[in-house]
Amino acid sequence: MYIDVLCELGAKAIDQTFVYHVPTFLKESIKIGVRVKIPFGKMEIEGFVININNDSLFDRDKIKDIISVIDEEPVLNKEMLILGKYMADSLLCSKVSAYQVMLPKALKAQVNTNVKLKYNKYLRRNKSIEEIDLYISKCRYETQIELLCKLKEKDILIRKMNSSINTILKHGLASIVYEEESRYKYTGKSDYKKVSLTSEQEKVVSCVVNSFDRSHTFLLYGVTGSGKTEVYMNIIEEALKQEKSAIMLVPEISLTPQIVGKFMARFGDVISILHSKLSDSERYDEYRKITQGKSKIVIGTRSAIFVPFLNIGVIIIDEEHTSSYKQENNPRYNAKDIAMWRSKYHDCPVLLGSATPSMETMARAANGVYTLLTLNKRVGNSTLPIVEVVDMKKEVKKGNFILSDILKNKIDDRLSKKEQIILLLNKRGYSSIISCKECGYVAKCPKCDITYTYHKKSNNLKCHYCGTSVPVIYKCPICGSDNLKDYGMGTEKLEEELKKIFDAKIVRMDVDTTTKKGDHQKIIDDFGERKYDILIGTQMIAKGLDFPLVTLVGVVSADSSLTASDFRASENTYQLLSQVAGRAGRSDRKGEVIIQTFNPDHYSIRLAERHNYLEFYREEMKMRKMLKYSPYYYMVLLSITSKVYEIGSVESNKIASYLRNNLDKETIVLGPSMASVFKVNNIFHYQIIIKYRKDNNLMSTLKFIDEMYKKNNKINVEVDFSPIRI
Ligand code: ADP
Ligand code: ZN
Ligand code: ZN
Repeated sequence: MYIDVLCELGAKAIDQTFVYHVPTFLKESIKIGVRVKIPFGKMEIEGFVININNDSLFDRDKIKDIISVIDEEPVLNKEMLILGKYMADSLLCSKVSAYQVMLPKALKAQVNTNVKLKYNKYLRRNKSIEEIDLYISKCRYETQIELLCKLKEKDILIRKMNSSINTILKHGLASIVYEEESRYKYTGKSDYKKVSLTSEQEKVVSCVVNSFDRSHTFLLYGVTGSGKTEVYMNIIEEALKQEKSAIMLVPEISLTPQIVGKFMARFGDVISILHSKLSDSERYDEYRKITQGKSKIVIGTRSAIFVPFLNIGVIIIDEEHTSSYKQENNPRYNAKDIAMWRSKYHDCPVLLGSATPSMETMARAANGVYTLLTLNKRVGNSTLPIVEVVDMKKEVKKGNFILSDILKNKIDDRLSKKEQIILLLNKRGYSSIISCKECGYVAKCPKCDITYTYHKKSNNLKCHYCGTSVPVIYKCPICGSDNLKDYGMGTEKLEEELKKIFDAKIVRMDVDTTTKKGDHQKIIDDFGERKYDILIGTQMIAKGLDFPLVTLVGVVSADSSLTASDFRASENTYQLLSQVAGRAGRSDRKGEVIIQTFNPDHYSIRLAERHNYLEFYREEMKMRKMLKYSPYYYMVLLSITSKVYEIGSVESNKIASYLRNNLDKETIVLGPSMASVFKVNNIFHYQIIIKYRKDNNLMSTLKFIDEMYKKNNKINVEVDFSPIRI
């Protein structure tokens, strides 16, 4: 027996299959999709079995034997094997990288994954109750009797062996069994009260449920607080009733603990949770619950889209506009595309939900490719908050650099009413620029062309691109002057300023305050228990939080998001503003939102003020059409990186002219140009953008380029289809 083994070799993860021979004693264990250990040069490595053959065309004497078979059951099932091929073809990634991304670390084909299962030892009754009773009636030992009485009811967890257990075993009354234990324990709050759905909600639920058994995509466009989560739960409940499973993707679990809590309370043990903050062993255990059929619902982030359910009833993608559904390194897949592929494989619907759908999704709903479902109103007595935009140009003239008079007054007002406040500032750290007042020197990361951010607590200058961190400087390295000043404001400085102005309990949530597992949860729980009056944070706080006492949301500066050099800047700003505004006034108490900006007339701000998503969609689509961006044009981003400036430049030019010569005439090729951050970690970034509507030569041309540079170590070319940012 000969097998083709697919291995991951080298940094570029190029697909390589190798033929190996299977010695007779291992034949029985070989199945397509299991991992095997093979000799490779002087090393032992792991790979996936992707083909089984009786014979081989290669010189048999040169074919080596495999060392061992790792899995009893395949880690890649039939669907995953086909899906991997689809990903390789459509994303130009290697099959092996596609397979690896589908699996938890414990099941990837790589050396040194030391993730073992945890087993518990139980004592289980072997004899009938009557026989046990008979034994008890003759027994003289208290501890044995006690154990046997318990054993009549259920298995007993054994922490340590003792003589009573040994005696019971010796008499054949019980035996020892091992059962897997999940190391993941949900520790958050779980509370849920069953509600009866509004007629609007009912309609949405029945639309999707009536499409179980059919591959179709729905967009649920529902304003914040309109009860989307409730809708999801009812749809999933129906899937379970029909003995099907459900996948629900959320942007980032640690940021949406309240949703998870509701699901836990309603569905309990049949849920597996999969997200990035789990340890490798917790992730493995949660995954095992799926492969063993113990869980029926998966709630997870991007890669949870791959879970090997055999009978999917529905796939739900909450906050579908979120960029985190797209993986930004290889394989650059979008979980939404994978969802649609699986929906065809399983004949089940996909439900995309959002209060601010992405332009691409809304456009597809508008032209009938997706079915649009709407929830127009907030549930119950709560209404959308009143939003007010403050022109910071005027405030700065009054000397208000951080907080406008109106925001200050409203904060005071809420503090006196003992209500809560959320303040958003989408920049972490203390200040964004340290500069010399004498000579104009600006402190920059030497490896990246980006200014250092000053972090006061650690007293460091940090590069948010490569992570370099150096001690803060007090003297200008160019002219020696000590007249240095810091400009720009991050969350750390905002916290400090607020503490000076208000007598309030303030908590900050950003990357720097949430480095440990459970940090998010603690901040959110504490804020929910009113241990704090004000929650400050980056975009992390914009999503999913539901605190009835929050009646004021302040956006300290809407500008950093608006002025980003990316064609989605307006869309992202609109989404961020509506999301964070949606945190205010979620109960009977009226909510208010203050947006501070230097661009009060920008349409994304003006329309966020009026909660007018549809108008924003129309405006933004006009821009996209005019500028030939997605969704009017498909886009592909080629990133060309090199450690050597000249090589990067020469090769990018070659690639661009090859594209111009080989793609359709209508296809637009832009560049090469320097990426918006040109140097990161001493690597130079060039980019070429392709825009096209239909181009039959596209895939073959890109494939040629991809193949050509795969083996070149001086330069790296990455192809990104429908990039999230450019
Ligand atoms: P969304 O996900 O759209 O922001 P949620 O599902 O979180 O909205 O619902 C907002 C609030 O309304 C939650 O507290 C939820 O429990 C409540 N809610 C949702 N549907 C109903 C209903 N039919 N009756 C009563 N309360 C509801
Ligand atoms: Zn200087
Ligand atoms: Zn850097």
